[in-house]
Amino acid sequence: MTLSIQNIEKMLHAKRFGDNNGIIDTISIDSRSLQNNQKTLFFALVGSNNDAHIYISDLIKKGVQNFVVTHIPEGLANKAVFLVVENTLDALQKFAAHHRSLFKFPVFGLTGSNGKTIVKEWLNFLLNPDFNIIRSPKSYNSQVGVPLSVISINDKHNLGIFEAGISKMDEMEKLENIIRPTIGIITNIGTAHDEGFEDLEKKIKEKLKLFKHSKLIIYQKNKIIDALIKSKIKSFSWSFNDETADVFISKKEIQDKTTLQVRYGKENFDVQIPFQDEASVENAATCLMVLLSFKYDKKTIQNRMQWLYPVEMRLKVKNGINKTTLIDDSYSCDFQSLKIALDFLESQKQYKNKTLILSDIFQSGLSNEELYTKVAQLLKNNKVNRVIGIGETISAFKNKFTNCTTFKTTADFFLNFNYLNFVNETILIKGARHFQFEEIVSALEEKTHETILEINLNSISHNLSFFKSKLKPTTKMMVMVKAFGYGSGGFEICKLLEHHKVDYLGVAFADEGISLKNAGIVLPIMVLNPETTSFSSIIQYKLEPEIYSLKGLNAFLKIAEKRKLKHFPIHIKLDTGMHRLGFEEENLDELIAILKDNKFVTVKSVLSHMATSDDLVHQEFAHSQITLFEKLSSKLMSELQIKPIRHILNTSGISNFPQAQYDMVRLGIGLYGVSNDAEEQKYLENVGTLKSIISQIRSIQAGESVGYGRRFVANKPSKIATIPIGYADGISRHWGNALGFVTINNQKATIIGSVCMDMLMVDITEINCKEGDTVIIFGESPSVTFMAHQLQTIPYEILTSISQRVKRVFYRE
Ligand SMILES: *Cc1c(COP(=O)(O)O)cnc(C)c1O
Repeated sequence: MTLSIQNIEKMLHAKRFGDNNGIIDTISIDSRSLQNNQKTLFFALVGSNNDAHIYISDLIKKGVQNFVVTHIPEGLANKAVFLVVENTLDALQKFAAHHRSLFKFPVFGLTGSNGKTIVKEWLNFLLNPDFNIIRSPKSYNSQVGVPLSVISINDKHNLGIFEAGISKMDEMEKLENIIRPTIGIITNIGTAHDEGFEDLEKKIKEKLKLFKHSKLIIYQKNKIIDALIKSKIKSFSWSFNDETADVFISKKEIQDKTTLQVRYGKENFDVQIPFQDEASVENAATCLMVLLSFKYDKKTIQNRMQWLYPVEMRLKVKNGINKTTLIDDSYSCDFQSLKIALDFLESQKQYKNKTLILSDIFQSGLSNEELYTKVAQLLKNNKVNRVIGIGETISAFKNKFTNCTTFKTTADFFLNFNYLNFVNETILIKGARHFQFEEIVSALEEKTHETILEINLNSISHNLSFFKSKLKPTTKMMVMVKAFGYGSGGFEICKLLEHHKVDYLGVAFADEGISLKNAGIVLPIMVLNPETTSFSSIIQYKLEPEIYSLKGLNAFLKIAEKRKLKHFPIHIKLDTGMHRLGFEEENLDELIAILKDNKFVTVKSVLSHMATSDDLVHQEFAHSQITLFEKLSSKLMSELQIKPIRHILNTSGISNFPQAQYDMVRLGIGLYGVSNDAEEQKYLENVGTLKSIISQIRSIQAGESVGYGRRFVANKPSKIATIPIGYADGISRHWGNALGFVTINNQKATIIGSVCMDMLMVDITEINCKEGDTVIIFGESPSVTFMAHQLQTIPYEILTSISQRVKRVFYRE
């Protein structure tokens, strides 16, 4: 794609300000991307709480010259070319629809409640020997993701596969206009009555809008869909139980595989797939239908389908050996997803040096010469320090890259593993499936046991936006990341908060702040509880102490004077009723006398903390705290003639006392997806999922017991599973003895007997599961809030109790 800015101006019906005869060859909506350059057109999207216009001045400094905006930010007129439109998302969609209209090859549109991404990846795998395929990267299926996917079509492609996801009525028409699928596929439609839709029929009706201009629809036979499909569209249906479907399939499980017995017209044949779970079998049936509709012979179908594989779409961050961070994207390798992974690498780099381990890339639609030239340019733009290429083709193009080592096979790589000397770097591991890069991840990964705490970075962004939307536009945001980010992780979360331009971070102790600064966090950090012994490191690392007593103030001033500090930022804590830390009313005059005309420090903020913001029973007390805060802080301000940032609200304060936002709020538990208000909880997304596996399964007879003290005795023949997580990992001993449960394959398994130090046992008599299956200790269900309630504690304690021996794995969808 190369377009002049004038052409785009016409296409978008935009009003142009500025001129540079510019040529555009990339579209961006991500201000962090190092791929942004002179030829980028940046669409400043405006979400309900996030407005990308704030990034424009930074982008201009980085060389970006062309922007689609709703207004020109102050002071930037004449600094770049601006295309002003009413709505930047509409403009992006219009741009994509125009781009799509230039191509005339078959395009699949996928919709459904579950399985879209897996079916898309599998179709790509099954059809790629015969087509140059363009498909949505990852799960790019939203109002923003779809246009970005479609914009990547080029004239070498001859087949498209795009997913469309909707969450409310009236979104599908827009996506239809962009994807314009010629063939429709409906994956599992779900029976759930989703939010945003009145009933199942309305939901299906909305989804079918994607196929307004399609010639064929492939779906699992279903009366509602049958009735809704317009007669002029051809339908091609399959079923496990309705023999009137075009293709009738019976399934038979053998060992760990499933045989699909297919009856299609007069033909009868078997297809084997390496899965047994219901979802995978359904998704495979959908793929089978596509192959049939493309008239593949049964031999080819049998041959290709036996190699279907589990799809992992998430980018995961893991701790590696020798001070490395790994970004694991070891299951796919194409140009689009490489771009996304490189952006993620930049946003998560804990160590400055960036290394990429990359396999051959397939199905780009380009010649190898063109492709690897483009890849090399991409890596250069992204400032990748070293490249390790694995595969015959990438080896042949080695000289296009700087600082590049190549190996023909993954086995060759392992022969040289020790010479590659991985240390102090952030490593992106990106390979096509058959290169088996999961083995490289496993070799580089710090050894973990099977229990992990997975942290969803998308949900953190969502929750942050939710609370931001409750604030006045001028209210600043401090995010509390004490206790290792409420147990959820320090650096990775702070890096994300930095991107979202929060104003401050808060930690409890100096060493927490020091490790964040060492890792490269540049946001200002307030230390809630600075010990006198830590003052000199606080100064050295430019942390900002909360000062809560005359003794502390005098001690700090002594050091400040000795070091000849000038206006070093400090924060004054007032006690307004919590009675934990802080100056009281009677100390105020002395405090003012000491601070008056003091040049060594500057009062950056004045704060207090509420004791009852979460419980409206104590509303009156809360108001008395706010009133006292107003009085004391006003006195400080007028007598010292200063204008510090004032703040008193924590998470539940933000929700319950919006009138007391002052200049800043301090968000804590809400960021991590927990609210003490059931209504508000619905709007938050779960962040942490504590996962383990089944180590062993056994059967016991009635009368036999399980665990220490024989606290569980079976009253009937039972099946018991042992899970390797215990109270040493932070699971309360009280959670056992039938109070608590875990989730296995979407079913509740009661914890029986007492929780042991490193293990617990659950009853799986009624549950279909096997050794090695995933076990959810908490997450969506049971939720941390539910656990806390049952255990008569608060979610804070549960989250922060998870021991550091449980590895944290961060991911972005
Ligand atoms: C922990 C803490 C917060 C955040 O509280 P949440 O209830 O988690 O939002 C705010 N202010 C201070 C002083 C804190 O110690």
